[in-house]
Amino acid sequence: MTATKAEDVVEVLNPAGESPVVLVCEHASSFIPPELQDLGLASADRLSHAAWDPGALAVARRMAERLDAKLVASNVSRLVYDCNRPPSAPDAMPARSELVVVPGNAELDDAARQARADTYYHPFRKTLADTIKTTAARGATPVIVTVHSFTPVYHGHPRTVEIGILHDSDTRLADGMLEAAQGSAFVVQRNEPYGPENGVTHTLKEHGLPFGYANVMLEVRNDLIGSDRQQRDMGDTICGWLESAMTALSEEGQA
Ligand SMILES: [Zn+2]
Repeated sequence: MTATKAEDVVEVLNPAGESPVVLVCEHASSFIPPELQDLGLASADRLSHAAWDPGALAVARRMAERLDAKLVASNVSRLVYDCNRPPSAPDAMPARSELVVVPGNAELDDAARQARADTYYHPFRKTLADTIKTTAARGATPVIVTVHSFTPVYHGHPRTVEIGILHDSDTRLADGMLEAAQGSAFVVQRNEPYGPENGVTHTLKEHGLPFGYANVMLEVRNDLIGSDRQQRDMGDTICGWLESAMTALSEEGQA
C-alpha cells in the first residue's frame, strides 16, 4: 500500500503563465488512489461522470494555452474528495452521487473525513491559493475561472442547456460573458444546470469573493466536448467570451 503524497493530488499546468486568469479544474480526474480500493465501485461507475467531469480538463488546457494562463487541476476523483466543496459539506465525500452508490464512503466517521480532507482537499486549496497569490504578486488582479462539464441526462431527464455560466454574489464576469455569448449557436444560460443554491460555488467563494477578484464558473454539457476537435473549439469559443468580458470590466474600471 502506498500513501498518497500532497504533490500527487494536485498539479499546476503552465505555472509561468502571464495571464491574470487562473483556471481551475476541480473535477479533472477520475483517479482513485490504490489504497482506497476503487471505493468499492464497479468499473463503469468508477469511470462515469459521477467520478469526474469528462472533457473539462481538455477544454481548460486549451484555454490555458490560448490565454497563457495557469491551470490548477485536481488529480483525484471527486468521489474521493470533491475539491469544490468545503470539508463540512456532506457531499464532499458523497455516499451517493446521482444513481451511483459509493460503498467506500458509506461509513466514514469524523476521523476518516478529516483524513480525507487533509490528504486531498487541503493540498488542493493551498496550491490554488498560492497560485492566485503568485499572480497577484506580479501586479495583476487575478481573475478566477473554474471549468466543469455536466451530463446530458440527469436522473433520467435530458438537459437542454448546453453551456452554463454560473456565479455567486459577484456577477461581473458572468454578466460580461453572457452578453458576449448572445447570438451564439449554443444554448447558454445563467446559473444552469444548477446554481449557488446547490453549493457549487465553493471555489468562487473561497478564492474569489473575499479578495474582490472577478470570478465565474463554467459548465459545458459533456456530449459537446467528446472529441479533441470539439474540446479545442469549445476552449476557443469560451476564451473569446471571457476576453470580451475582461475587456469590458477593465474599461469600466477606468471609467
Ligand atoms: Zn464539476
